[in-house]
Amino acid sequence: MSLTLAEARDRAATVEVASYAIDLDLTGWERRRFACTTTVRFTAATPATFLELTAATDVTVDCAHPLTWTYDGRRIALDGLPVGEPVEVVVRAEVPYVSDGDGMHLMTDPEDGETYISAYLSLDVAQRVFPCFDQPDLKATFDLAVTADPRWTVLANGRVREHDETAGRWRFATTPRICPSLFVVCAGPWHSVTWEHAGLPFGWHARASLAAELDRDADELRRTTEACFDHYATLFDQPYAFDSYDQLFGPGHNWGAMETPGCVTYRDEYLPRGRVTDHQRVARATVIAHEMAHMWFGNLVTMRWWEDTWLNESFADYMGYRVADDGAGFAGALVGHESSRKPGAYTADERRSTHPVAPAPEDVPDVDAAFANFDAISYSKGNSCLRQLVTWLGDEDFLAGVNAHLTRHAFGNATLDDLVSALDEASLRDVRAWAEAWLRRPGFDTVAVERDADGTPVLVREGSRPHRFSVTAYAADGSVAGERLIDLAGAPLPLPDWAGLAVVPNSRGESFVRLRLDDHSATFVRQRLSDVTDELQRAVLWAHCFDEVRTGALPVPAYADLVAAHLPREPRPALATAVLDRTLGAVRTRVAAADAVAGLSDAVAAACTTGLTSGPGATDDQVAIALVRGLVATTREPHLLERWLEAGRTDLGADVTLDPALRWSALARLAALGAVDSDRIAAERATDGSFAGDLGAARALAARPTPEAKAQAWARMVEPEVSNRLFESLAAGLWDAERPDLCAPYVEAYLDAGPDIARRRGQGFSLVLGRNAFPALALSADQRSRLAEVLAADVPTVLARQWNDALDDLG
Ligand SMILES: [Zn+2]
Repeated sequence: MSLTLAEARDRAATVEVASYAIDLDLTGWERRRFACTTTVRFTAATPATFLELTAATDVTVDCAHPLTWTYDGRRIALDGLPVGEPVEVVVRAEVPYVSDGDGMHLMTDPEDGETYISAYLSLDVAQRVFPCFDQPDLKATFDLAVTADPRWTVLANGRVREHDETAGRWRFATTPRICPSLFVVCAGPWHSVTWEHAGLPFGWHARASLAAELDRDADELRRTTEACFDHYATLFDQPYAFDSYDQLFGPGHNWGAMETPGCVTYRDEYLPRGRVTDHQRVARATVIAHEMAHMWFGNLVTMRWWEDTWLNESFADYMGYRVADDGAGFAGALVGHESSRKPGAYTADERRSTHPVAPAPEDVPDVDAAFANFDAISYSKGNSCLRQLVTWLGDEDFLAGVNAHLTRHAFGNATLDDLVSALDEASLRDVRAWAEAWLRRPGFDTVAVERDADGTPVLVREGSRPHRFSVTAYAADGSVAGERLIDLAGAPLPLPDWAGLAVVPNSRGESFVRLRLDDHSATFVRQRLSDVTDELQRAVLWAHCFDEVRTGALPVPAYADLVAAHLPREPRPALATAVLDRTLGAVRTRVAAADAVAGLSDAVAAACTTGLTSGPGATDDQVAIALVRGLVATTREPHLLERWLEAGRTDLGADVTLDPALRWSALARLAALGAVDSDRIAAERATDGSFAGDLGAARALAARPTPEAKAQAWARMVEPEVSNRLFESLAAGLWDAERPDLCAPYVEAYLDAGPDIARRRGQGFSLVLGRNAFPALALSADQRSRLAEVLAADVPTVLARQWNDALDDLG
């Protein structure tokens, strides 16, 4: 069982932690365990408390003071502590490595045989690495010593203080006070690019087999890092609080990235092999800026309990897009938020599991519940609310409040109330009332466009929140006839000078609100979406169309027509990608009925072909890449894919080479069409030779449309030690939206086996299991009933949350 709020409060009231000294022996990893010696110095106000430590063996506890202890596999219960006196407890243990990112992740790279050992951490992961008081409001300093292969590089929160190159022994500088979940260590023969900036050591690191990719992107990664760092220095009064800034692309990472102070870790898919597209570069820059924002929000000032996850994530998410654009020069980063992230937040906000952006602590009763709240509400909706706050409050007051907050609580913990107080003091506006309306209540308002008898558009709010957003009026040809920033509250707002024009509220996405357009404006959107020249406005319109198809206001065939009409003309790669992802993802697997799936796939294939032959994709290679991916995922023409694989490049539209990721997608599609056999896949895998190649082959093998291939894929998925990445890749091949009958036995098997798998693995794997690996096909009524039935029994919290959400999405 994970730590409860009651336990955390009790422990925070009775324990004060001074420091951890952690000594890790990462040699001899072949025995699948590492030795961990941890010295915890703390003072307790009661004789009994506990440390968390998961799945360790050979545990011993030593203390100069006589005490008793027991270990049950999850917790070390201590009793007989000297009340009110500092005490030093030394715990020695053997701790298992993991293959699922939830702990000390061990990976051997098939490409060169090199091994990497990394702890990316997160909620409840620190305790899978070392014994600790694993909660955010028990901060301490950390001293780390590591013994490892002398050839390796070892990275951690602080700078290397001592390094014995012969013995393979590293000691790191003492950290400022941080909580256990912000600890990090990454060891292996990393390929590194290092430099100095602003008086600090900086570095980017990746597996040795990704050296060429890191060198390819090193200048940009360095430039982006420095630009963001310098930009934050102009925004925040508090200086950067740590002594170094390393960033590492790590294998098997469960998150996009983790903001561990001094050494941020990213999933290594952010360093793609072969080619990095402009769209990926912008997305990566927003993540770099996001993680850096956490150095202040999260690391310098930390939430007290996990109900304020949003304080971390909403803020970092908001800053990520803003600073990638303003600070690092990735213009239009916000298009990615509006088109690919915000639609998911509206979906999430209509599920049973929705919650206020800022829930009450009691609504997050334990860490498993907290984990489930790392969702679209805490990230994308929270980001959207902060953007609305800045629009409503003005940037100057917003930053003044934020800075007062950061200064007041530096190296400590704080709550929503603390932030609201600071903002309220900085502004003449009633921030408390705003926070109550926007952050303390789930759901969102609707803004309707109505028409007077004379054709005057009237904006009507259905809901309770104050809004400030742009409204744009469009002429019949799609050109902008007028635009203004308006405040909308309870009173309807007529716009008489825009009589007869199409009108779109929230046209730049400053607010978080559903649109209901009058017939004239709705027809305009369906006919003219791709004539709107502003990409942010198009992103808002695409998101609106997605909302309509999801909620049934727009039938799936009409949505398919819309995609067919406007996707081929979309000039912005990020938007084309977002439309394709959403259409082939949520619309095809959660919204469309089984008999509409094939038609939707064909509409996408046709739209991509048109875009490549006569749209921007004919000449712009970045648009072409997006459309080629869409076509590869949907085409029914094996000869087309064979031709491209043979030539190593496409022959439709702008020239696109088939990089390794695209090759594997083409092979997976050929496999799903029944057009390649296992020998061909094995040959391609042998040629590729990389870790990503192994995953690509696993996906392609699983995609073959035979009962035997599906059975083999499932058998690999339920192997006890299957890694998070392999599991995901097999699932991506196994589920085939166009062949639900072939997949049916494994929907059943998945639902049967899921709860046990979740119980055996950690929260991160449960998320992969419940979300990424959920059957990507239109489930039948029987299958949905079966899912509901399984959920009625005992399903672990994180998996249950994902499954309940899927059930809601399926309607
Ligand atoms: Zn974050």
